[in-house]
Amino acid sequence: MQKQTSAIHAGYDGTQAFGAMSVPITQTTAYAFRDSEHAANLFALKELGPIYTRLTNPTTDVLEQRFAALEGGEAAICVASGQSAIFYAIANVAEAGDNVLISDKLYGGAVTLLTHTMKRFGITASVFKSSDASDLEEQINDKTKAIFFESLSNPQIAIADIEKITEIAKRNGVMTVCDNTVATAALFNPIKWGVDIVVHSTSKYTNGQGTAIGGIIVEREGMAEFFKANSERYEHFTTPDPSYHGLVYTDVPLPNFTLRVRLSLLRDLGAAQAPFNSWLLINGLETLERRVEKHSKNALEIAKYLESNPKVSNVCYPGLESDEGYAKAQKYFKDGQSSGLISFEVGSYAEAKNVIDSAKLFSVVVNIGDSKSLITHPASTTHSQMNKEELEGAGIKPTVIRLSVGLEDTRDLIEDLQQAIG
Ligand SMILES: *Cc1c(COP(=O)(O)O)cnc(C)c1O
Repeated sequence: MQKQTSAIHAGYDGTQAFGAMSVPITQTTAYAFRDSEHAANLFALKELGPIYTRLTNPTTDVLEQRFAALEGGEAAICVASGQSAIFYAIANVAEAGDNVLISDKLYGGAVTLLTHTMKRFGITASVFKSSDASDLEEQINDKTKAIFFESLSNPQIAIADIEKITEIAKRNGVMTVCDNTVATAALFNPIKWGVDIVVHSTSKYTNGQGTAIGGIIVEREGMAEFFKANSERYEHFTTPDPSYHGLVYTDVPLPNFTLRVRLSLLRDLGAAQAPFNSWLLINGLETLERRVEKHSKNALEIAKYLESNPKVSNVCYPGLESDEGYAKAQKYFKDGQSSGLISFEVGSYAEAKNVIDSAKLFSVVVNIGDSKSLITHPASTTHSQMNKEELEGAGIKPTVIRLSVGLEDTRDLIEDLQQAIG
């Protein structure tokens, strides 16, 4: 099935729900078992079915199946936010004493989570250059459990050397986790390029209108074979889990990675997605491809305008031929489309503040992927918890402004920027 068709139909058969065309919202905490044997079978995985909404929910299940289809993965699992998707993806394989290798170009929340909060749990992170992965292989050791990067990074709008990263990861038997939030499943499918695990903040383009927070983890087919082939590194999958009466994940004929997130992390940490949010995100997915096409078209027009404005420098948009990411965008992304994110610089911090405060149509909001256009100053907001070295390393200067171009008419958006920048 083609993507746009999956986005509208995968995972739902209306004949089960009075023919309801809209996926029903199963707003329930728990589910009645037929009898005690049924309950025991569900807990023992002898039979599959809903037990409690912290673990599974029929509405959320539709979104999971749809997302897996769109990403070309075997299975997916929803969690409460993009942040919890990243946390669970890493915590599913790493524990105290382990390390992860993380891209130098990441979302601010991912940086603080992976370098500071995870450290408190004994998991350390080292940074590698994702634009060419030139210092990646030398940093891998026996305790390296994952390589984490963003396909199209927020807010630097840089594209990782995905082919090289996955090639190095495969040679060393290390799992890759790609945050595909900004590129979206409509433009890019990391799994087709060799990535093992894909995470998204579905709060952004998937939702599309800024109405719900959500996160999702997608796994490729064949993770059980991968864990078996690299059993020393990933022993939690190949040896009995004492917290689940000795279950060996690789012995279970179910997608192993998301199964362990569900049975262990969602069970114990509980960042479950609310069914209503799943429903909003299902509605968002239906128009994702069309919207991203328009976001990309609008952003390219605005990037060209910014390039022509003498008060603006360093317009970063991979759809521009002048951008260092142009070749990669052409290589990886559908028709070279590059989403609605643009960053650019003005002369000083004061000027940056003035532009942001003068914009009328662009709202000052730390979100992306909304149908409404947004403007932010990353250094003082989304990335303000990073220190000076981290900011410099990530390319976030005080003069940088980030736009998330919405779906309005570009004539109005350009007029607004023109009056704000001058
Ligand atoms: C927003 C974002 C996140 C965090 O997602 P939340 O849903 O806000 O928790 C992670 N990665 C990227 C690239 C993001 O843009």
